[in-house]
Amino acid sequence: MSETEISAEAPLVDVRDLNVIFEKKQMFQKDRVVRAVKDVSLQIGKGETLGLVGETGSGKSTTGRAILKLVPVASGSVSVAGRDLMSLKGAKLRKARRNMQMIFQDPYSSLDPSATVGASISEPLMVHDKMSAKDARKRAVELLELVGLRESHVNRYPYEFSGGQRQRVAIARALALNPDFIVCDEAVSALDVSTQNQVINLLEKLRAEFGLSYLFIAHDLAIVRHISHRVAVMYLGRIIEIGPAERIYNKPAHPYTQALLSAIPDASPYREKKKRILLKGELPDPGNPPSGCPFRTRCPYVMDICKERMPDMTPIDDGGEVACHLQTAGPQLAGSSLGELSSTSPAKIKLGVQK
Ligand code: SF4
Repeated sequence: MSETEISAEAPLVDVRDLNVIFEKKQMFQKDRVVRAVKDVSLQIGKGETLGLVGETGSGKSTTGRAILKLVPVASGSVSVAGRDLMSLKGAKLRKARRNMQMIFQDPYSSLDPSATVGASISEPLMVHDKMSAKDARKRAVELLELVGLRESHVNRYPYEFSGGQRQRVAIARALALNPDFIVCDEAVSALDVSTQNQVINLLEKLRAEFGLSYLFIAHDLAIVRHISHRVAVMYLGRIIEIGPAERIYNKPAHPYTQALLSAIPDASPYREKKKRILLKGELPDPGNPPSGCPFRTRCPYVMDICKERMPDMTPIDDGGEVACHLQTAGPQLAGSSLGELSSTSPAKIKLGVQK
């Protein structure tokens, strides 16, 4: 993906020190407090796609929802197109939200199963733009054609479409109000690989045509690879690595990113076979995270300092930042290739390495 297509102006989306805290009521016990998103900062330029990757429970979907103010934000700031969302409420927030849309993994989240897709796409146009029913229907047909569907689809119901077609309808509905920014939350994760590619190509075409910016959330680095200009990796509510997609895929700096990448199969039979790093153990309980570095309970390089102190985000040579003490306390290991990782002392390794 060409970096030159991205606007060099101020970022369209500017998120600083975002924190989301959920309190869960428990019977006969103290209420459980979960810091689902911790000190997340990110920027997305106009026309840029930022991939956001992490395991289930890492906080990536909550981050997407918090940016759109769909869940309560404990602290931090979010501005979109220069407008501070945190200070907006009621009608002003609703007005600002038309500029931002969300596409979900399950299109039924945004499509009423009892309404025709024409009615679902027309609804925001009639409510927000005060369009007549006739004009809204005409626009719905244009939007369906824009996403590769036909006029004859306008009177059909969501259940009459395949998964990929339904996701196209959800994209058409998201585009109805001409947004600048779309959060795609696992938008292609439920589709088969060939349909995933078609929907990703469609999203990419729309981005290039309309200068859209995406936060593209997925649990799999392979999915975000071809659509992202930059990639951020989340672990236990924090961004632990961010950088240009090319650098992340060719030279991942964080041991967790290295493990995620090692799980992606190589398409070419001629490339040297990668050694797979199997992550042992589960993601720790977000309500009871480890002290210091959140990845320390699964990291092969854990050092004393990792238990004591959360590593700061540190700039790295080939672009982006990483939160790992190896960057400062263990430079001899930083940037090691996956092959070198596998030769580290087995006594220290908590990640299995497979050929
Ligand atoms: Fe591993 Fe320590 Fe780096 Fe965390 S800070 S990823 S525990 S080496």
